[in-house]
Amino acid sequence: MAESKLFLKENPTIQDYQQYVREMKTERNFKLDPMYECCLLAEEVGELISAVRKNNKGGTIGSGSVPGSVKLELADVFIYVCSLANMHGIDLEEAFREKEEINKQRTWKRL
Ligand SMILES: [Mg+2]
Repeated sequence: MAESKLFLKENPTIQDYQQYVREMKTERNFKLDPMYECCLLAEEVGELISAVRKNNKGGTIGSGSVPGSVKLELADVFIYVCSLANMHGIDLEEAFREKEEINKQRTWKRL
């Protein structure tokens, strides 16, 4: 196995994460297909839901449970979100700020 040249600096910005994922995709020679990436993201969201469900007993976090798998599945989801943003030339920080400005104008209804 070849040694990885990937490195994520301390206190990374969202752009740093996106750059890391860009380099990771190249280093691992991963497929760059947005629809395929959407499928992988959906799979990871499913794994996250499963991890949350297993760590959640009766609506609360189970006593003694270690939500480590939730942590790792959230990381998987984040990787695919970064990857999809990269494929579409989207700066996630800018997207977050723009969407939150829209959300601030919304009226939120409780179900
Ligand atoms: Mg996963």
